[in-house]
Amino acid sequence: MDVKVQIEELRKSLNEHNYNYYALDAATISDKEFDLKLKELQILEEKHPEYFDQNSPTQRVGGVVTKNFATTAHEKRIYSLDNSYSKEDVLEWQKRVQKSLGIDDLEFVCELKYDGASISIIYEDGKLKRAVTRGDGYKGDEVTNNVRTIKTVPLQIPENTAAKNFEVRGEIILPFAGFEKMNNDLIEIGETRYANPRNTASGSLKLQDSAVVAQRPLECLIYSLVTDSSEIKTHFESLNLARKLGFKVPAESRLVNNIEAVFEFIEYWNIHRHDLPYETDGVVIKVNSTYYQEELGFTAKSPRWAIAYKFETERASTLLKEITYQVGRTGAITPVANLEAVQLAGTVVRRASLHNADQIERLDIRENDTVFVEKGGEIIPKIIGVDLALRPENSEPTIYITNCPECQTLLVRKEGEAQHYCPNFYGCPPQVAGRIQHFISRKAMDIDGIGSETSTLLYQNHLIESYADLYELTVEQLLPLERMAQKSADNIINGIENSKKVPFERVLFGLGIRYVGETVAKKLANHYKNSDALAAASFEDLVLVDEIGERIASSIIQFFANAENIKILERLKVYGLQLQIEESGSKIISDKFLGKSFVVSGVFTNFSRDELKLLIERNSGKNVGSISSKTDFIVAGENMGPAKLEKAVKLGITILSEEDFMKFLNEG
Ligand code: AMP
Ligand code: ZN
Repeated sequence: MDVKVQIEELRKSLNEHNYNYYALDAATISDKEFDLKLKELQILEEKHPEYFDQNSPTQRVGGVVTKNFATTAHEKRIYSLDNSYSKEDVLEWQKRVQKSLGIDDLEFVCELKYDGASISIIYEDGKLKRAVTRGDGYKGDEVTNNVRTIKTVPLQIPENTAAKNFEVRGEIILPFAGFEKMNNDLIEIGETRYANPRNTASGSLKLQDSAVVAQRPLECLIYSLVTDSSEIKTHFESLNLARKLGFKVPAESRLVNNIEAVFEFIEYWNIHRHDLPYETDGVVIKVNSTYYQEELGFTAKSPRWAIAYKFETERASTLLKEITYQVGRTGAITPVANLEAVQLAGTVVRRASLHNADQIERLDIRENDTVFVEKGGEIIPKIIGVDLALRPENSEPTIYITNCPECQTLLVRKEGEAQHYCPNFYGCPPQVAGRIQHFISRKAMDIDGIGSETSTLLYQNHLIESYADLYELTVEQLLPLERMAQKSADNIINGIENSKKVPFERVLFGLGIRYVGETVAKKLANHYKNSDALAAASFEDLVLVDEIGERIASSIIQFFANAENIKILERLKVYGLQLQIEESGSKIISDKFLGKSFVVSGVFTNFSRDELKLLIERNSGKNVGSISSKTDFIVAGENMGPAKLEKAVKLGITILSEEDFMKFLNEG
C-alpha cells in the first residue's frame, strides 16, 4: 500500500477510536491495540517527515514549546453570564424575557455550569485551527499547542459531516480523580499540592511545554457551537450537532418547556452535583430558539437570553479537636485537623488537611476552635476560617512542632519552601517504609504481589531495610509471615525478579529522589543515559538539562553525595536492574547524516529539541553540545543566543532552520 494512504488510514482509525474512548466512554479496541496502532503511525511519520501533520493523533503527546502566547481577537465576543442566586431571580428573568418577546410559552435548555477555564476553538476545513482563552472577552491568548493535547478535543472532524468551518466554545476542566492523582504525584515527590481543579486547569493552558500539558488529564466540555448554518434553529440542536462532530457535550443538558421543569433541574443538581466527576458551580438556563436569542440580544456585559443560577457553597462548622502531624515518604510533614464528625455535602467529615505551618498561622487555627469547613474541588475538605466568637478564653496560638513525631529528629525548613521536613533519611520509619512502597509502586518498579501492607510487614519483620534488600529475599523467608501461602510467596519472588527488566527511567523514578517525579526522571534518563553519568553530573551541568531547575539539581546532588545511597545503587547494579537506557530506543533508520555533527539550539515549532536530536541520531548523525570548528550543522530555532550565532557565522558553519532541516532530511 502507498505510504501516504497507510498513514491517512491509521490517522483516521486512531481518531475514531479516540472519539469512542474519550467522548463516548465506549472503547471498541483495547488500550494495547490502540498503542500498537499509534506506534505504527509514529514510526511511519518519523520515516516520512514529508507527511507531517500537526493534527495527527501522534501530536497529542505534545512537545512544542511556546515561549510567548500570542494575543488573538475573538471573531465574536465572548460575553459573561448574568448570575442569579434564588428562584425569584430566575422567575424575574423569565418574565423579562417573555415580556420583551411578547410570548408566553418558551423552550429553555438547562445545562450545568462547568467550573474550569473557558476556551474558544476554531475549525477550518474540518481541522482544528486555533484555540484561544476567553481573556477579556474581546481577545485572549492563543493556546493551540496545549489544547491539541487534550484528548476530548477532536483534531479532525469526521469527513461525512456537513459542518467544516465553525467555532465551539467550552470549558477546559480537570476531573476530580485526575486532579487528586496529580496531587498525589506531587506529594510523592515532596511538593506542595495544587489548590483546586479550576486554577490547575487554567494554569495548565499557559504552560510552555505542551508535553507537560499532554500528561495532565484535562477534558474539554462543549456548551456552544457557532456556525453560519441556517439549518440550526435551536441551541439544543447545535449541542447535538457538536456531539456528532466528535465533541464531548455532557449528557446532563435538558430541553424543557416550562419554568417548573427548570426549577426541577436546579433542585436535582443542587444535590446530585456531588456525584459528578468534575466541579460545577451552578446551572445555566438558555432560551432554546436561536431566532429568539437574536431578538433578545445582549446587554453591555451578557446575553439577555441566558442566566446562570449559582449553587450555594456547602459549608459546615465543627470543633477542631486536635492537630496531628503526618510524615511522608520524602520526610515532608503535613499537619492534619482532627474534627468532631460533621455532615458536609452528603458525607461525614472527620479530618481536614491544614497543608503547612503558614496555613495554620495565616488562619490562626488553634485546637478547640470551632472552624468552618468547605468542600471545594478536593476530596479532602479544607478549613477556610475560624469562628472567633466561639473561641475558648484560655486559647493559645498553635505552636508548630519542632521535632519529628516519628523519630524525634529536629525538623528543617528550607528557605522559600512551605513544608517542614524530617532530615533523618535512613532512620525515620515512615520515610524508609514509604520509600520502599514508592519503589514497588505501579509507576515505578511495578512489583506484582507486594502491596503496601506486605511491604510494611516485610519492613516490620526486619526482612528488608531498603529497597535493595528486596532482591535478596527468598521464599523461605517469606513463608513464616502472617497469612503468607506458598503461592503468594512465589508470586512475590517472581515479581521481584521481573522488575529487573523495568526500564531505567522508572528505576530512577523509583529511587525516590526528592523532586524527581516521573517526567523529570524521564528527562534525566534520556539525557544522561545511565546512573553513573547522572551521579557524576555537577550542579552546573544538571541545570542545563531541559526542565531541571536549581531545586531539583541540588536535590540530585544531595542524593548522590550520600554514601549510603551509592552503596544501594551499586547493589542494584549487581542484581541486574536497568541502570542505563536500552539502546533500542534509538534505532538507526538511515545513514544520511553519517559522519556529520549537529548542534540543536533554540525553540522550535513542530518538534521539541529532544525529538530533533533523536531524528539526527536515527539518521546516523551525532549530536554535540557546543559549537566548535568540528561542528557541521546548527539547527537553529527561535531564541538561539546571539553569541552562539556569531560564533557559528565566524566558523562558517551551515545554519539550518527547522524547515531547512526537514528538507535536508527528506532530500538528503
Ligand atoms: P462568568 O464567568 O460568571 O461570566 O460566566 C460565564 C462563563 O461560564 C463562560 O465564559 C463559560 O466559560 C462558563 N460556562 C460554564 N458552563 C457553561 C455553560 N453550560 N454555558 C455557558 N457558559 C458556561
Ligand atoms: Zn522522622
